[in-house]
Amino acid sequence: MNSLTTRFAPSPSGLLHLGNARTALFSLLAALPDGRFLLRIEDSDRARVSPAFEAALRVDLEWLGFGAYIDEAAIWRQSERSGVYNDFLERLAHENLVYPCFCAESELVAERASLRARGLPPRYSGRCAALKPADARSRIMAGERAVWRFRVPPGQEVGFCDVVRGPQRMATNLLGDFVVRRANGEAMFFFANALDDALSGVTLVLRGEDHLANTPRQILILRALGLPVPDYGHLPLVLSASGVPLSKRDGAGSLAALREEGFLPLAVVNYLARLGAVVESERLLPLVELAQAFDRRRIGHAPAHYDRDQLLHWQRLAMAATPVAEWVSWVAKHVPQADRLRFVEAVRPNALFPEDYRRWAEIMYGERRTLDDDARAAIVAAGGELFHAAVAHLDAGGVAGDLPAVLKAAGHGGRRLFHGLRAALTGRVAGPELKDILALMPRALVARRLRECGSTDAKNL
Ligand code: GLU
Repeated sequence: MNSLTTRFAPSPSGLLHLGNARTALFSLLAALPDGRFLLRIEDSDRARVSPAFEAALRVDLEWLGFGAYIDEAAIWRQSERSGVYNDFLERLAHENLVYPCFCAESELVAERASLRARGLPPRYSGRCAALKPADARSRIMAGERAVWRFRVPPGQEVGFCDVVRGPQRMATNLLGDFVVRRANGEAMFFFANALDDALSGVTLVLRGEDHLANTPRQILILRALGLPVPDYGHLPLVLSASGVPLSKRDGAGSLAALREEGFLPLAVVNYLARLGAVVESERLLPLVELAQAFDRRRIGHAPAHYDRDQLLHWQRLAMAATPVAEWVSWVAKHVPQADRLRFVEAVRPNALFPEDYRRWAEIMYGERRTLDDDARAAIVAAGGELFHAAVAHLDAGGVAGDLPAVLKAAGHGGRRLFHGLRAALTGRVAGPELKDILALMPRALVARRLRECGSTDAKNL
């Protein structure tokens, strides 16, 4: 029995990339089969988020197959919860655990610079902590702007055991009293984030290690409020092949781009499940089985590198696992019903993406075919005579499938023959078996393409 509640809490400020998707996946896998997996939209920073990115991330999560595990009624949106954050801030204020701070930004900047110059951590001096509550209140009543700071207990340590990185400790003296509410009344991101985790019953937070520095502060807040503190696990970043962190804003490695390219969701999910984590199986697995083979205690803490070859490996397996009926649906527009099964079987060794099936369908059944440079060279090398002989065979009522044997018997044997025919018919020198091409392509199209190669200089094709 797994009673974990996990969540994915994206900020809709860009397209989800593989790193974000991995955080979502690990959170889901940790919760399956019978824990809860929540989605929370962290959209409180109005300047950076947009409904379009929220819509895009919902599309991505659906595409990955996570939608079935998300309880729509339990989705929280931070922009709708400011009342809750205010209530909890007031509770803290009531207990004198937060205080208003009137220090000007310029003073704070100077203070931090001076601390840094002396080699000290740039924390707040605590100047406003000593203000009398009555004085602070009258300044606020008089319209003075204030942020609210959390009164950090001095001389303590905040410790927690990170599920990924092991024991962590932070001396509260290093923290300084931190801001939990801005002067404009908005809750700070990590304040809202900690409250929402606790209030929605989240028991395990898996998130990017860029949030590690927030955790001690969040633990202090939750403890001060008597709210439950979840377990935390901070996942190392996913770096691009060139070693830079993937970023939501530059679209690198975005799920949308991978989908567009034709990657299948099952390939992406199987790839990500192994990206810095251990799955006790080399097989392509559906989500529920991945969850059984996934151990959240064995997530690595070194940065993971995006490796396209690995992703392509899973793509191959996912393509092979796709039901034939689906391949058939990809080509239905071009390929006559009776040919479809043989066609998809013939194309299968050359198909890495669904688009490859469509491309070959267009090549073998469409009106136009384009020649690549190798095909041009192969047609020139085959020579006009070979194509004349081929056309003569067809004109005399011969079967297209007999062409290789007939042409060979007429002295056109070898590589020249096979490359030449394939290039003339498909515009490519690699692809499905020639015997399948000849059996499947409409006879009139075969005759026309061979005739073109016999009558025209290949450069003009
Ligand atoms: N909203 C944060 C982000 O998109 C995630 C915070 C968290 O998971 O705790 O980076």
